[in-house]
Amino acid sequence: MNLFDLTGKVAVITGGNGGIGLGMAEGIASLGARIAISGRDAEKAKAALAALRGLGVEAEFIVADVTKKAECAAMIETAERLFGRVDILVNNAGTSIRKMPQDFTEEEWHQVIDTNLTSAFLCSQAAYPAMKKIGGGKMINIGSMMSLFGAPYATPYASSKGGIVQMTRALATAWAGDNIQVNAVLPGWIDTDLTKRARQQVNGLHDSVEKRTPQGRWGNPRDMSGVAAFLASAASDFVTGTAIPVDGGFSIAM
Ligand code: NDP
Repeated sequence: MNLFDLTGKVAVITGGNGGIGLGMAEGIASLGARIAISGRDAEKAKAALAALRGLGVEAEFIVADVTKKAECAAMIETAERLFGRVDILVNNAGTSIRKMPQDFTEEEWHQVIDTNLTSAFLCSQAAYPAMKKIGGGKMINIGSMMSLFGAPYATPYASSKGGIVQMTRALATAWAGDNIQVNAVLPGWIDTDLTKRARQQVNGLHDSVEKRTPQGRWGNPRDMSGVAAFLASAASDFVTGTAIPVDGGFSIAM
């Protein structure tokens, strides 16, 4: 038995057209799964598709705004139509708005919560019947160090990422009997478009992360490939409801 063989499996990765989503898609693709990446920006997806196809697997891009329930459902339906099944869902799409809590508008609050938390719920709901029908599946939700810690500029973001951990536990208990394992990953500071913006907005962030991280560096999207491969494969069949930090030690050091 090869615990890490995903031949014949199909994975859907939201926001898989760049950053952490692409790093995770590459990890899953490297085990042989066919890949549907989704997002809103088809242009950005071209390079991602080339990278995934370069690993020797089939890969397609599905346009979907995951803040919209109908588009989450259509994304899963399209993946099933293209590839015949959905075994793995990575709820990775996310965004951030950085402000002091007193300065957020209600719309901004909803934008962050809808993109980071509600979307993961809606996509999981949409994928559940597809996984149940084939006897099981794997869901991987992306949290953050803000699932564990607070920051003055991150009230909606930290709320959404704390919610991801609790939603993961609740879904894991609900669907354990259907052989669906639901886990969360809590990335440390990873160099992506999202954190490029953060480094412009938060003074001294680059250096303080390096200093605060025991491994002494920022992560890169490829650092997320291994955990995605593990949580997508049979190697994690008795692992559910967990939240695994992938952070170079950020969350275990004072
Ligand atoms: P990126 O900005 O590179 O990626 C975010 C992705 O989400 C994009 O591919 C974007 O695709 C997609 N996305 C955003 N909004 C929507 C939407 N409404 N519908 C569909 N897709 C959407 O950032 P990261 O790779 O850094 O972030 C990925 C995840 O990792 C997020 O959940 C983030 O919170 C989390 N994270 C990141 C950390 C980091 O240090 N980078 C640390 C901890 C967690 P498109 O533009 O095509 O819509």
